Amino acid sequence: MASTPALAVVLDGLSTAGLDTGCRHGVPWYVAHLGSQLVAALADPERSLSTGLADALERVAAKHPECDLGNPGTPSATVAVLRQREGSFDHLVLADSPIVLESRRGFSVITDLRVKEILPELKAEVDRYETNTAEHKEALRRLVLAQRETRNTATGYWVAASGPEAAEHALTGSAPAEDLRAAALLSDGAACLVTDYSMATWSEAFRTLRAGGPRELIDAVRKVEASDPHGQRWPRYKSGDDASVAFCEWG
Ligand SMILES: [Zn+2]
Repeated sequence: MASTPALAVVLDGLSTAGLDTGCRHGVPWYVAHLGSQLVAALADPERSLSTGLADALERVAAKHPECDLGNPGTPSATVAVLRQREGSFDHLVLADSPIVLESRRGFSVITDLRVKEILPELKAEVDRYETNTAEHKEALRRLVLAQRETRNTATGYWVAASGPEAAEHALTGSAPAEDLRAAALLSDGAACLVTDYSMATWSEAFRTLRAGGPRELIDAVRKVEASDPHGQRWPRYKSGDDASVAFCEWG
């Protein structure tokens, strides 16, 4: 997660499930560099968010040409960006870290769920087992292995990885500033409180963010997960996934 007065960014590195990535630096290195390149690329308000993302992807790839960037498991991440401009807010979403906008008319959610729609049989297989069992781990490994083959292809789903072309597949848009009251950018490990567990509405989640900030929302997620440690009520890939939230509010 990174932010400047005019920019908020949330990146969520994808799990490698212990499989080879072809990169000796690893996912945290990739995410850190993508974040700093993205902030630098988007400092120019005239540059579109997708052009800035494409630039950042190229720059990160250029930092490790010795790694096998064509490996299907090359480090990858979801991207959510919100940028304030004169009179409006631009947003960009690549994969399933949603941006939630609160306006006078209510909440709107911008997210790309293609990753959740592909490979339903393998996903059902993962959901069949309790988390932290050998069977769950093996089913997850098979799912990730299959996901990697469809990642950044026309029949699969798009994430930030080693090539700039994924930026063209991001969802982008703009909202008039006078309509917006607040916005949240969330990794799926935080959004799941609303989207998967149905333990809060977006209105309740924003109330929590206003009262206690991201920390309190993430605590609420962890509390729910602690009530279901083996993923029986809410089947999931990990007991608790990485959770990050950027909350932005205007007068
Ligand atoms: Zn590398």
